Amino acid sequence: MQNHDYDLFVIGAGSGGVRAARMAAGYGARVGVAEDRYMGGTCVNVGCVPKKLYVYAAEFGKSFKDARNFGWASETPGFDWATLRDNKKAEISRLNAIYDNLLTGVKVDVIKGRARIIDAHTVTVGEQRYTAEKILIATGGWPHIPKFPGSEHAISSNEVFDLEQFPGRLAIVGGGYIAVEFAGIFNGLGARVSQLYRGPLFLRGFDADLRAHAAQEIVKTGVDLRFEVDVQSITAGPGGLRVLLTNGTAIEVDAVLYATGRRAKLEGLGLENVSVKISDAGTIEVDDNYCTSEPSIFALGDVVGRMELTPVALAEGMSFARRQFGGLENTVDYEFIPTAVFCQPNIGTVGFTEDEARTRFGRLRVFKSTFRPMKHTISGRDERTFMKLIVDKASDRVVGAHMMGPDAGEIMQGIAIALRAGATKAVFDSTIGIHPTAAEEFVTMRDVWRED
Ligand code: FAD
Ligand code: NDP
Repeated sequence: MQNHDYDLFVIGAGSGGVRAARMAAGYGARVGVAEDRYMGGTCVNVGCVPKKLYVYAAEFGKSFKDARNFGWASETPGFDWATLRDNKKAEISRLNAIYDNLLTGVKVDVIKGRARIIDAHTVTVGEQRYTAEKILIATGGWPHIPKFPGSEHAISSNEVFDLEQFPGRLAIVGGGYIAVEFAGIFNGLGARVSQLYRGPLFLRGFDADLRAHAAQEIVKTGVDLRFEVDVQSITAGPGGLRVLLTNGTAIEVDAVLYATGRRAKLEGLGLENVSVKISDAGTIEVDDNYCTSEPSIFALGDVVGRMELTPVALAEGMSFARRQFGGLENTVDYEFIPTAVFCQPNIGTVGFTEDEARTRFGRLRVFKSTFRPMKHTISGRDERTFMKLIVDKASDRVVGAHMMGPDAGEIMQGIAIALRAGATKAVFDSTIGIHPTAAEEFVTMRDVWRED
């Protein structure tokens, strides 16, 4: 091991790379990390963190109105985009410095620049060559915008955070996490938002009833949500961008955000110099230990495309370091990973959708509740919460929980622990609720809604 400059050379200081580097260093490994763009990666710079800050900003819009029926007589204050954007920038700079310190504090060398793999044990960053016993690729993903006439006018989530001008009219293309979240953000901040999705119902992969409920609620918030439609072309004119749709109609907007998925970031990485296998989906193929088909090269996080979530990249980074440098047997369990979509209100989900559960377990009992959140009985806001539990009939185990409602992301974290622990519906039923909360509904759903 001592023949190499490092025991581990990590490419990419994002969620997965930083966690793997820090833990490996904690086990005594000599670690170098190359980062060519920003410390902390996508999540910190153009992902989870700035997104959540903008979600908070968006939620104020409706709260000012909600407050009136509670006795707060005031006009809705005006929104200033530059204040939000620049305060966000300052917070992200603070976090960048923290990430730098997290690594240097455990004696990891941070090398600023683009890394390229030269052979199974060698990497270059600029003119400098580094050798390592093991190389870890944690280069994440990059937004993918399909090519079509005028696609050069479209922006991605990378640019949307730092727009010079607030887009008063915004078209968002896509029906996944990013499209839904940004429709909520810009709608909440006061833009006129059209969300365009090519299929019959957005949020593919989520529970069907939840998706239908989400579509209803998002329309109520004022988003112009259109299904079965795509963009044919975008042309720039004096009045902004003209977006011609596949149904022959057109809309005029100030910006078009494409949120049509992300691709593994492999460009310029030098993979042609080693025998790392790439899947049909364009991600790096790895085994349970994140080892590629080149035995000294490993990969994890979005670049392997298992679940593109920060806590998953963190778990993979920890698992990798424990096994390779801590001598521990360790694999990540990908079942019952909770997730949230930070639209207004939030979606929170864990476990199987009803369709998946039926395929996997056979007969089910399904419980559902929809209700008006207590706060809105007075605020007057037209919003309904949705909750659903899916129970395997044979074992009584709760195998899926789905919610759209205020704080669903927060609530679902606790429910995820119960599901991972194998809680049965009887355990949910015998749990005393916290009153008055929305969450207590999860332990008071008595009537079966659907039964096989
Ligand atoms: P990344 O964090 O992308 O890090 C990769 C790093 O590698 C980058 O810093 C990049 O600059 C660097 N790099 C790439 N190539 C090279 C090279 N050749 N040399 C040197 N450095 C290189 N997940 C959640 O769990 N919750 C959320 O709320 C959430 N919100 C999101 C919102 C948006 C808009 C987006 C885009 C993503 C969001 N995600 C969220 C997903 C989350 O950000 C990713 O799953 C996570 O960042 C993946 O971590 P990673 O380490 O694999 O890659
Ligand atoms: P997603 O894969 O979630 O969604 C992509 C959307 O774009 C889908 O609706 C897809 O439609 C549509 N689409 C794909 N290609 C085209 C095309 N050529 N033309 C029109 N529509 C197209 O990707 P996102 O970009 O939203 O996000 C990337 C990932 O980042 C997410 O999957 C998630 O893992 C992560 N993320 C997590 C967040 C969180 O945890 N809160 C927030 C943001 C991102 P179809 O369904 O028909 O294929």
